[in-house]
Amino acid sequence: MHQKSLTELRAALDAKTLSAVELAQLFLQRIEAAKNLNAFISVDHDLTLAQAKAADTLIAKGETGVLTGLPIAHKDVFVTRGWTSTAGSKMLANYTSPFDATVVDRLKNAGVVTLGKTNMDEFAMGSSNENSYFGPVKNPWDLKAVPGGSSGGSAAAVAARLAPAATGTDTGGSIRQPASFTGITGIKPTYGRVSRYGMIAFASSLDQGGPMARSAADCALLLNAIASFDPRDSTSLQREDEDYTRYLGQRWSGDDAAKPLAGLRIGLPKEFFGEGLSAEVRSAIDVALKQYEALGATLVEVSLPKTELSIPVYYIIAPAEASSNLSRFDGVRYGHRAAEYTDLLDMYKKSRAEGFGPEVKRRILVGAYVLSHGYYDAYYLQAQKIRRIIAQDFQEAFNHCDVIMGPVAPSVAWNLGEKADDPVQMYLADIYTLSISLAGLPGMSVPCGFGAAGSAHSTRPVGLQIIGNYFNEARLLQVADAFQRASDWHLQSPAGV
Ligand code: GLN
Repeated sequence: MHQKSLTELRAALDAKTLSAVELAQLFLQRIEAAKNLNAFISVDHDLTLAQAKAADTLIAKGETGVLTGLPIAHKDVFVTRGWTSTAGSKMLANYTSPFDATVVDRLKNAGVVTLGKTNMDEFAMGSSNENSYFGPVKNPWDLKAVPGGSSGGSAAAVAARLAPAATGTDTGGSIRQPASFTGITGIKPTYGRVSRYGMIAFASSLDQGGPMARSAADCALLLNAIASFDPRDSTSLQREDEDYTRYLGQRWSGDDAAKPLAGLRIGLPKEFFGEGLSAEVRSAIDVALKQYEALGATLVEVSLPKTELSIPVYYIIAPAEASSNLSRFDGVRYGHRAAEYTDLLDMYKKSRAEGFGPEVKRRILVGAYVLSHGYYDAYYLQAQKIRRIIAQDFQEAFNHCDVIMGPVAPSVAWNLGEKADDPVQMYLADIYTLSISLAGLPGMSVPCGFGAAGSAHSTRPVGLQIIGNYFNEARLLQVADAFQRASDWHLQSPAGV
């Protein structure tokens, strides 16, 4: 049962093969048995089972929606009533929210059962999940490897089938990269599609929530539930709701059933395939692209000339916004307060010094610096200008193609500890995800293979990144789903799972 897709689980619940309570129990037991992964920060059986019971009542009354009774885990950056909401930080280690994030609320209203809160890099800052106050998460494919970050707990949970799906957030790659490192499917929607209300803020002009699941089809079902205009989020997109499943299984434009993607033009940015891309990732991506050609798509070279600049630009803008967002954690309004202090200022200083971990402090320092008088023009303003050019480069590329494809990350998952002491090495690994976030475009990761056969990486997954123009999520999901109908990478799971 734990290997089933959301659609299959729906059918099992409808056929009364098992109840929502039994389904929740099954996953709670799996979570318990996989404690060594450290994928969850908090689990509460009573709360989960109460929700499952309520779902069973709805099902018994015949008031069943598509997601009623299906269980999901939430990244601990989404505030949830009942559970703690820590954002992976000591600062919020005991924080309980009086309200639910919009994403949580929408899923709850759809009858979804919460399995618990997943581990993450502190305040979503990181690419390996090693910056969590609650300790690192292990990659279920290889316990020596990181699961990626910052949504590493959600990714590991789905990969190890501790939950059929989970929520994640992506500021510069945090849905796509952990999905890639753990062989699952994740989509970061167009900026503004999914409400940020109740999502503990990192960098507000970049933060975007989205689903992480086993397949594109499951992601589409979840996106239907979570994406909607929200008046409580000032940057929420005011658009009609749409059905993200509507193109699944359809042909792109031609009428040859054997070539469902005939007419699809796939842009390959030459900057995504140059120096720095590992040979094993490159070869898995090449095989996937051949498969797309077999499905009828054509490949065209495009250029995103400012790709390299996305790293300095992102690592100016994101810390700038973070330094401002995190100023609220002062020991008064939220979270940790130092036990001993001499006066108010000393209390602020000690509370923040004790409550934040090293990476968060580093970002606050960088952010305060680039926003300070004398440096604002030289750094922050320049970065904003280049951000605009990066977004324009994508529009130029989309004149020649319908979607863009490339790697999610330059390598497969690295070893725990390997980059932990070298923040710049960690930042460089974000090279293929940051520009999409800076432009606000939708992007996803789809499993497409493993590291080199016979090498120490042979069980470490590779993700293919698919990038679309604004609001093209339904098309991205169609393109990903077509690949998953023709391949079985997304059905594979770690040994013993
Ligand atoms: N790795 C990037 C960072 O550390 C992205 C994280 C994210 O998307 N939340 O900022």
